[in-house]
This record gives sequence, structure tokens and C-alpha cells, in this order.
Amino acid sequence: MNPFTFTQASDVDAALAALASGKARPIAGGTNLLDLMKSGVPPDGVMRPDHLVDINRLGLDQVEEAPGGGLKLGALARNADTAYHELVRSRYPLLSAAILAGASPQLRNMASNGGNLLQRTRCYYFYDLGTPCNKREPGTGCPAKEGLNRQLAILGTSEHCIATHPSDMCVALRALDAVVHVRSQGGQREIPFADFHRLPGDQPELDNTLQPGELITHLVLPDAARFVAHSAYIKVRERLSYAFALVSVAAALDLDGGTIRAARIALGGVAHKPWRVEEAESALVGKKPDAAAFDAAADILLRGARGYGENDYKLTLARNTIVQALTTAARGTEFAKGEQR
Ligand SMILES: Cc1cc2nc3c(=O)[nH]c(=O)nc-3n(C[C@H](O)[C@H](O)[C@H](O)COP(=O)(O)OP(=O)(O)OC[C@H]3O[C@@H](n4cnc5c(N)ncnc54)[C@H](O)[C@@H]3O)c2cc1C
Ligand code: SF4
Repeated sequence: MNPFTFTQASDVDAALAALASGKARPIAGGTNLLDLMKSGVPPDGVMRPDHLVDINRLGLDQVEEAPGGGLKLGALARNADTAYHELVRSRYPLLSAAILAGASPQLRNMASNGGNLLQRTRCYYFYDLGTPCNKREPGTGCPAKEGLNRQLAILGTSEHCIATHPSDMCVALRALDAVVHVRSQGGQREIPFADFHRLPGDQPELDNTLQPGELITHLVLPDAARFVAHSAYIKVRERLSYAFALVSVAAALDLDGGTIRAARIALGGVAHKPWRVEEAESALVGKKPDAAAFDAAADILLRGARGYGENDYKLTLARNTIVQALTTAARGTEFAKGEQR
């Protein structure tokens, strides 16, 4: 690991001051950042901050009511505390299910909400310092396109990168229209979840629209009461725990008797950001919640999808998972029970 200095910030202003200088990075649970700093042999490392700012003492760890019937999730609240919080479990069961589908109990106890948004791709080449990778070293190339791409994207790719964003939590946050609140020394701003992560385009080194020196303070979930009764998160992976999604789908329906009043669908494991196409949701309005309607929505969601060889199977898998998630949601939400930490 490269040498670095370390500060523990006691309040947000102190953290922002420390983050404004040089190649400083905040550290929360450390479950992704430390792995990336340790990869390779010094003086290498996939991420090479020269200063770490511990943000765990900033007090941004609450889950609480937001004005207008929504919920405020602190950036430093742990993934487990968020998933098992009574307000999340009862009012956003889709989010609870998505978080609990990720990683392992130990990791969810450490991982923070802010860190989850900023975790980096799991593309093998990104972690392998012996290979080129446009995301790690811009301009060096993308060996994944003709190489090991079983895990990688089928939608929104560019000639420069076909990586996926690996988070489960973010797929539900996208379906629920979360808003990311950030602060910097220059002030504060709100970023709609749709605009937080980005597609690779010709700058695959940029995963999101957060600016240097900005700190995520919290997320706000708007009221989603109409989707509580009918939601599901389906994650397809190579083993039942401790594995990233090959494809995942967050689905929520608002049903009026036998008719769909509103729908939300977001996909994980298929693109550089959680994938959502609102046109697919509009197409479901007024329809009966059946396989034909769900398959037609999948057509819209997967428009333009393409495989790169090893990941061709995702074209069929994504379609089937969309239909399965919507069918499961239509049957009724399964609420997370108990606490398994
Ligand atoms: C073996 C393994 C399996 C996993 N499986 C899954 C899985 O199946 N599904 C899934 O979704 N995730 C999975 N994860 C990823 C895990 O969820 C993330 O590592 C975790 O959410 C990151 O949170 P953290 O607090 O540890 O972040 P850190 O590692 O501390 O930070 C990650 C990044 O976020 C930045 N950061 C952190 N907080 C803030 C903030 N408030 N403002 C600005 N920047 C910030 C850091 O500087 C760093 O760049 C897995 C991880 C491991 C190691
Ligand atoms: S897909 Fe992206 S992260 Fe993977 S090798 Fe290509 S440029 Fe790097």
C-alpha cells in the first residue's frame, strides 16, 4: 500500500476542509476503498489517495422522517441499520430487500449508505494492475470488450468501457427516486438519483457526478406508500450469498384491483448505472398485471441491449428476471423479518 496520512474529522466543516486539499478521500466503512488501495504492489494501487479523512464521527448516521412523508437516510448510517430500520422495513420494503441481497452480514454492518453509492466496478481488469483499463488509466484501452466480460454490461456501454455498477442498494434507490444531498466548502446541492451515476461515454474514469471536495451527507426518499404492498427485488447471482448481481431487478406496482395504476422498474448488473426507462413503466399503466404486459415492458427496457460474447446470456436473463420481478411484485411484497447481523 502507498503511504498516506490520516485524520479523524469531528464535524462536517472539518471534514470538508481536510477534503479540499490534494488527493484526499473520505473513508467510511472502508470495505471498498481499502481493497482498492491495497490492490497491487507499491507504488501502485487502484486508488492512491495521499490523505484519508475518517468521516465516521460526523453524526450523519440517522434514519429519520423527512418533510412530506419521506425518509432521510444518513450517509454514515450502516447498510444493516438502514435495512432493518422499522421505518425502512415498513415503508420502503423494496430498499430493505435490495440491501439485504448484497454482500454478507459482516460487510453490511460496516458498509455505509454513502460508500455504497460510490463503490467501484468489479470488472476484473479494473483490479488487475498488470492489464490496461480505461477506467483505471484513461486512454489505455478496454480489454474486457473481447475478454472476460461475463459480469459486464449489455446496456449504455461505450467503445471505451462496458463496466457495470455493482450495487444492489442503488437499484432500489433509483426505482424509488431518491435524492442525494451533498456538501462542499462552496455550499450544498441536491442530485436526483437519475443524475448521480453516469454512463461511461468517453470518460469511463468518472463513475458519477460528484465533484472533488464534495461529501454526501444524506439521501432523501420521497413518499412511496402506494408501492408498499407490491414490490420485489430479484437478484440473480452465481451463489446465494456474497456474490454480485449478474442481473437484478427492483420492481414496484401500484394496483387498482386488477389493473396497474403505476409501476417502477430498475435494473442492476446490466449497465454503468442503475438502468431505468420510464417509458416501460408508462406502458404498463392501465394494463392487467400479466406476463404479456411484463414482457412488453421488458422489450422497452432492453431496447438497444447487446452482448459482448461471454455476457450474451444476460440478454435472455434480464428479460426473464424483469418478468419474474414484476410477477412477484404483483403477488404481494414479502417483508424482511427479524434481524440477522
Ligand atoms: C466481498 C464483498 C462482497 C460485496 N458484495 C456486494 C453485493 O453483493 N452488493 C452490493 O451492493 N455491494 C457489495 N459489496 C460492496 C459493499 O456494499 C461496499 O463495499 C460498501 O457499500 C461500501 O461502503 P463503505 O462505507 O465501506 O465505503 P468505503 O470503502 O469507506 O468508501 C467507498 C468510496 O466512497 C467514498 N465515500 C464514502 N462515504 C462517502 C461520503 N459520505 N461522501 C463522499 N464520499 C464517500 C470513499 O472515499 C470511497 O471512494 C461487497 C463488498 C465486498 C468486499
Ligand atoms: S470494462 Fe471498463 S473497467 Fe473493465 S477493462 Fe474496460 S474500461 Fe476497464
